[in-house]
Amino acid sequence: MTEDRIWLSTPHMSGNEQKYIDEAFKSNWIAPLGPHVDAFERDICDFTGSKFAAVLSSGTAAIHLALVVLGVKPGDEVICQSMTFSASANPISYLGATPVFIDSELDTWNMNPAMLEIAIKDRLSKGKNVKAIIPVHLYGMPAKMNEILSIANKYRIPVVEDAAEALGSTLFGRAAGTFGAIGIYSFNGNKIITTSGGGALVSNYPEFTQKAKFLATQAREDMPHYEHTQIGYNYRMSNVCAAIGLGQMEVLNERVGQRRANHKFYVEQFADLPEIEFLKEPQGFYSNHWLTCIRINRQSEVTREDLRLALEAENIDSRPLWKPMHMQPVFSNCPYYGNGVSEELFETGLCLPSGSSLTIAELFKVSNIVRSVFDNVGTKNMIKASVH
Ligand SMILES: *Cc1c(COP(=O)(O)O)cnc(C)c1O
Repeated sequence: MTEDRIWLSTPHMSGNEQKYIDEAFKSNWIAPLGPHVDAFERDICDFTGSKFAAVLSSGTAAIHLALVVLGVKPGDEVICQSMTFSASANPISYLGATPVFIDSELDTWNMNPAMLEIAIKDRLSKGKNVKAIIPVHLYGMPAKMNEILSIANKYRIPVVEDAAEALGSTLFGRAAGTFGAIGIYSFNGNKIITTSGGGALVSNYPEFTQKAKFLATQAREDMPHYEHTQIGYNYRMSNVCAAIGLGQMEVLNERVGQRRANHKFYVEQFADLPEIEFLKEPQGFYSNHWLTCIRINRQSEVTREDLRLALEAENIDSRPLWKPMHMQPVFSNCPYYGNGVSEELFETGLCLPSGSSLTIAELFKVSNIVRSVFDNVGTKNMIKASVH
């Protein structure tokens, strides 16, 4: 990675990862199973309060297996939050099912429960088979799970919670990812903790995690020869990656603290700039603040693109919010239920550097550049005013 660039989110090792990797090498557990895999699964259960966990090669693999386990078949429909990363929706298409996208609401930027119910009623009235609902806890902010679950339960549709970005977030004290029938986490390099690449599927139903492990191991039946009655996948996590995960779990709470401190820093720095708006945690919601995101008020003369370019000119990484899936060319034929909220968020929102290893000097560098863009516009306006 380029030395002096300030990135959005980078891996942050604790030091103990190497110790666990060395153990794996010494014992020759280099396979996609082993004692570190088992220990990492126990750690995830202890941390989240979920009863069962299966660690896998990626978060995307976890969503894919969740949908297979729930019986999603070609021609079925799966309801998915539109404002998200494409990995939430791609596995729906892997299975030949159709994603149905739902807009966000403004309190959490996540799935709008009212819109969800409108969509379910409409899909069912058209005779569609709606097999699952995928809400996402975007940027670490929990979705309105109580509302979403009560609608899902009413229509008896299972929920797969995409908590890829939300390990360490809670809703009324309960871990994000543990509300639905199945939850998934990601340990990709840019997430709050990483195994270099990896994911987990969690559930309180042992049949779901057992089935996921079976499918992730090429659906190999328990026989001396290789016997297969179903199509399988090669999706298990290696014991070496799980070694990294063990070291990362030891510092997860610290990482959440660091990301939340970054968020607090930006909120304080921009407190006197009414053009900049933050997403606030509703009562009972606790975000890991994986990324700190700002919205630029439409009344402002500064756009999010002005800010992004000013930061880029100083070799600082920033990114527009996720472009909603219903706006993506690849999903343009999929049904969508919304009223423009996610489009507006995409147009006006920007993710700021939020890694847990950012120094205070780097944070000040970012905030000073953002401020300078607003100051320059202010100065220009003062000159205009004095000329007239
Ligand atoms: C990162 C991410 C995923 C996919 O996880 P991978 O481990 O990269 O496959 C899925 N959904 C969301 C919202 C993500 O941010």
